[in-house]
Amino acid sequence: MSNESFVVIGAGQAGGRAVEAMRAAGFSGHITLVGAEPHLPYERPPLSKELLTGDSTPFQVMFDESWFIERDIDLRLSRRATEIDRRLGQVRLDDDTVLSYDRLLLATGGSVLTLDLPGISLAGVHTLRTIDDSRAIAGCLERGGRITVVGGGFIGLEIAASARQRGCTVTVLEYADHLMGRALPVEIGTAFANLHRENGVDLRLGTGIAGIEGGNHVERVVTSSGDVLDADAVVIGVGIAPDTELAIAAGLAVDNGIVVDAFCRTSDPAIYAAGDVTSHFNPRLERHIRLESWQNAQNQAIAAARNMCGRDEIFSEVPWFWSDQFDVNLQVCGAPLAWGDMIERGNIAARDGILFQREGETITGAIGLNRSRDMRMVKRLMTMDKTPSAADLANDSIGLRDLLR
Ligand SMILES: Cc1cc2nc3c(=O)[nH]c(=O)nc-3n(C[C@H](O)[C@H](O)[C@H](O)COP(=O)(O)OP(=O)(O)OC[C@H]3O[C@@H](n4cnc5c(N)ncnc54)[C@H](O)[C@@H]3O)c2cc1C
Repeated sequence: MSNESFVVIGAGQAGGRAVEAMRAAGFSGHITLVGAEPHLPYERPPLSKELLTGDSTPFQVMFDESWFIERDIDLRLSRRATEIDRRLGQVRLDDDTVLSYDRLLLATGGSVLTLDLPGISLAGVHTLRTIDDSRAIAGCLERGGRITVVGGGFIGLEIAASARQRGCTVTVLEYADHLMGRALPVEIGTAFANLHRENGVDLRLGTGIAGIEGGNHVERVVTSSGDVLDADAVVIGVGIAPDTELAIAAGLAVDNGIVVDAFCRTSDPAIYAAGDVTSHFNPRLERHIRLESWQNAQNQAIAAARNMCGRDEIFSEVPWFWSDQFDVNLQVCGAPLAWGDMIERGNIAARDGILFQREGETITGAIGLNRSRDMRMVKRLMTMDKTPSAADLANDSIGLRDLLR
């Protein structure tokens, strides 16, 4: 039995997976998991998809309460960590409890950004990060009506698709000229613009929001081009900011996220970090990167937990994430610095194909539309550093599995 203490701040996906991995690695000391939300750890992808369309099994947490009791994990929910004292090795909570740690994991994730607009605090204006947000939006969608989504990124578009599937009248306002433009090339933005329009979304590119009007509740949205749209609900989906406040106050290195090395260690060797909040050094990419993805939250947390238990594991993965909108499954592998001059396999415009990005012979990125089985092979090709020719990548009659050999 170890008499060491680990404290994990943030009981989201990364925090939940981390405490699981600590016990799995044989750590027998004290573990405290502190979470600001009232809920046990849960995964967020269904919040914008099945939980809004209403066609899934009900909301599920990752582990139930008995799981934590059996593993002797001290859960502090509805509690926010307010201060880290690195000198004393202590964390203070918002009820003034002080927890001592030998090792600390920061898994604080991110908070949704909102906009400074007239009418932003009217009832009926939402953002989406938590199950409570998702339930509130689901309530609006159930009532049908007119929904304006601000932001044509992954989350905004998933909400728009779910709302259409619920029979709502949906408008999407996107300031840029193409969808998902922060992460993906114009070819993909165009394919998704067509998808949304074909499914009845009123998509307005190059258009922002100027204000929201109504008495107590939203009634209208004024766009940056001066149009006035009747609306029963507005969802702002303009991204997140990593929750780095505690780390900054504690003097840890922070640069678009808590900076960690390939072992998930911060600039203080007793403090680790994992998930959306980190900017981690990825040896495959030879640079720091901050990812907002299910895979990263899970696997980086596991790596961090094992390293806190004394292992020396390098976390080095091909980044991967997915999005589901209407009947299209989008998957992205890798993180090229820029997309351009890509190799097409299948037909992206028909939403059945893959775009490959290469640097020299190396595949640095791939985007698949409705190619989930193929994308598993792509991930393996990239992980194994295979260098198929451009002609083979483009040739849909050659199986990608064959290129693994
Ligand atoms: C609606 C939605 C849909 C998504 N869909 C996909 C998808 O399809 N594919 C994909 O790859 N990824 C998806 N993601 C991204 C994925 O869910 C995130 O990358 C993942 O949840 C990150 O996990 P995390 O534990 O790092 O952070 P979070 O899940 O944000 O958890 C952090 C937790 O820390 C808590 N916290 C913060 N500060 C403190 C503090 N000081 N004290 C105590 N607790 C604190 C927060 O309340 C929160 O509960 C989606 C995300 C959302 C929101």
